[in-house]
Amino acid sequence: MLDATPPAGFVEKTPLERYVAPLKPSLVGLSRGELADLLGGIGVPAGQRKMRVQQLWHWLYVRGAREFDEMTSVSKELRATLAAHFTLARPTVVAEQVSVDGTRKWLLELPGEHEGEKPHQVETVYIPDDGRGTLCVSSQVGCTLTCSFCHTGTQRLVRNLTAGEIVGQVLLARDRLGDWQAGLPAEKDGDPVGRLVTNIVMMGMGEPLYNFEAVRDALLVVADGDGIAISRRRITLSTSGVVPNIARTGAEIGVSLAISLHAVRDELRDVLVPLNRKYKIAELMQACRDYPGLSNARRMTFEYVMLKDVNDSLADARALVKLLKGIPAKINLIPFNPWPGSTYECSDWEQIEKFSEYVFNAGYSSPVRTPRGRDILAACGQLKSATEKLSARERMALRAMAMTE
Ligand code: SAH
Ligand code: SF4
Repeated sequence: MLDATPPAGFVEKTPLERYVAPLKPSLVGLSRGELADLLGGIGVPAGQRKMRVQQLWHWLYVRGAREFDEMTSVSKELRATLAAHFTLARPTVVAEQVSVDGTRKWLLELPGEHEGEKPHQVETVYIPDDGRGTLCVSSQVGCTLTCSFCHTGTQRLVRNLTAGEIVGQVLLARDRLGDWQAGLPAEKDGDPVGRLVTNIVMMGMGEPLYNFEAVRDALLVVADGDGIAISRRRITLSTSGVVPNIARTGAEIGVSLAISLHAVRDELRDVLVPLNRKYKIAELMQACRDYPGLSNARRMTFEYVMLKDVNDSLADARALVKLLKGIPAKINLIPFNPWPGSTYECSDWEQIEKFSEYVFNAGYSSPVRTPRGRDILAACGQLKSATEKLSARERMALRAMAMTE
């Protein structure tokens, strides 16, 4: 039994002494409306809020401010009040790896949801390529879906990321890369002009369309022309096929879409991507055809993981071409990245080339990228004890690399 008698000399603390101030929330990732409400809460008069929000937006997303004190156009007094209530914090980086080819990986720690819970970990990967740079961003810790070739699918969902944690991945990548050259736009006349992070792919951990609101809110912040200003065309959201949210993505976010197809027959896709049992290929393809804004200049990407003797025959390639008929599409062939315990093998290189040639001859661009950042992937083991998600991270980097075409 526990002895409830306090030890000698013990002086009980008053409620005030016991009070621990709550953690200050970060302003990163909030909408303009949410920022205005918070400013109202700390006494900024209604007539000033719009202008103050515009200032905060500029400092956060154009200048990359990490401290309120950097915001020299904001009065000292307001800066102090802001700092007393809020932060500009991004997710915490626990490890960073830099490849000889410039690829970078950050292992991030996010707070657990309950007090005393261990922090969660996700990764963000940056891949520079020929004047542009693609950032691969995570939307969830783990995933509720159970695609049979995907390591994330073996982990139970831990939690959704908040909009702030999603935008935070973009900010911290730009912090680490020194990508805040004041005033430099992400592109001019459609081409990158010196910024390092020019493209975003939602292809990290998680199914973005099962965290729709946070992903939407975050991507609207990233695409905002007065802030980070990465245009919607340069943002690609990858989904395993959450059909009802595909139309919403078009209407409410308007970014480019990538579909993780991986199989052309329902019997096989039911096994590889079990969500197919709910939303069949025909229904998925209809949602793709209905996606707004598709043209030859703005194509939908179809991802296809190459699994030896499972989905890599020329008959599959033929069926794939037939299935995509009429959709402005590009096909992204991803070499399968094995993980401990996975039951699949990556297709032979010659088979990938034959498959790729077939779809290319049918008129589709079908990049198969030579994996990059190999040296840092090899060094991943050093992070393993911290995260035990080595293969998930490797896979994430690989597929992000495949997307940089
Ligand atoms: N959940 C979303 C986005 C994250 S997965 C989706 O499924 O689309 C991003 C891409 O990586 C998907 O096309 C996914 O099928 C693919 N992928 C997952 N595991 C893989 C592996 N082991 N090897 C190669 N690609 C993989
Ligand atoms: Fe989830 Fe995508 Fe992996 Fe499927 S492939 S389990 S949807 S992360």
